[in-house]
Amino acid sequence: SGWENQVKASAKIRSRNGHSVLVTGAAGFVGAHASLALKRRGDGVVGLDNFNSYYDISLKKSRKSQLLDRAGVFVVDGDINDAVLLRKLFGIVHFTHVLHLAAQAGVRYAMVNPNSYIKSNVDGFVNLLEVAKSTNPQPAIVWASSSSVYGLNTKVPFSEKDRTDQPASLYAATKKAGEEIAHTYNHIYGLSITGLRFFTVYGPWGRPDMAYFFFTKDILKRRPISIFEGAQHTTVARDFTYIDDIVKGCLSALDTAKKSTGSGGKKKGEAQFRIINLGNTSPVSVNKLVSILEKLLKVKAKKKVVLMPRNGDVPFTHANISLARKELGYRPTTDLETGLKKFVKWYLDYYGTKKKSAF
Ligand code: NAD
Repeated sequence: SGWENQVKASAKIRSRNGHSVLVTGAAGFVGAHASLALKRRGDGVVGLDNFNSYYDISLKKSRKSQLLDRAGVFVVDGDINDAVLLRKLFGIVHFTHVLHLAAQAGVRYAMVNPNSYIKSNVDGFVNLLEVAKSTNPQPAIVWASSSSVYGLNTKVPFSEKDRTDQPASLYAATKKAGEEIAHTYNHIYGLSITGLRFFTVYGPWGRPDMAYFFFTKDILKRRPISIFEGAQHTTVARDFTYIDDIVKGCLSALDTAKKSTGSGGKKKGEAQFRIINLGNTSPVSVNKLVSILEKLLKVKAKKKVVLMPRNGDVPFTHANISLARKELGYRPTTDLETGLKKFVKWYLDYYGTKKKSAF
């Protein structure tokens, strides 16, 4: 059928590495950038996304039409919970790798729709692992965990050996559950699996539910913005990591992934299991974030200081990236001001020409 042919064409490999990658969450922020980077270097890429309405669907559709369609990446409109669809895809293409980025993201939305986190981050992930483990040969899996697993841990910088038994949000709990589940699939079925703990990813085509994004919108609209402070008015800070650095880390994780050792569900020796931080190792306070945005937008923000509610946000994140350096040769190169400059340029361009209402 036409659909199958589009999948096959998109999976066509031009590089010598022979990679053919299924990217889940391909219409998402990280997924679109990663799919594009993979395609540009010649990997075969097929995307999968359910285009859900957690945030502006038109932004997801624009990432697809403006970034992916143009590059020749086909995105299947479907859900990771659809086992029939996944089996069909694995039947059409022999995927050597899966870059699994589909998830219910964001911490606050769990107070509105808790089940969406279980459905995508736990059930959907298991469903994908089930299909991967019974594919022969099995693909290597790289997926997005999150810095949120460090939860209420206060020892900084966060390193992979630190405790992750105090999640502060349901989002964090499902990401942590994903790590435990992935470990068992590695242990029992010989799947090669790498979990990447992303730290606050930002950049062009980013997510409208994240602070840097809605601050930009509100500052431009001359609306007041809420600056949260932790208990006892401690600073809230994030280890903001630029999208291109995260994408490089993802590609390197795919390139250094060992082959799965099981086949068709039968265990054959040890396979690789890794959990690695991908951050920037330089946390920036929310106040500093706002002052950079004020400078770039040439508009003074109307700041309203609020004590941080217990909505799942943690006060501070800071990555130790020595493992990423060693395992992946990962070296983030973009500082927050440089990265935000690129974000703001994209924002003004995208909303300025497409949706005048953003101003
Ligand atoms: P995103 O929401 O932009 O992308 C996720 C995409 O997955 C969306 O396009 C969504 O439509 C799709 N999706 C969700 N559930 C699905 C399902 N059941 N089936 C098929 N598609 C589904 O988020 P993002 O910022 O690109 O995040 C990518 C991954 O990185 C996620 O796993 C997220 O939890 C993780 N992460 C992101 C950050 C960050 O700061 N952006 C930080 C830590 C971890």
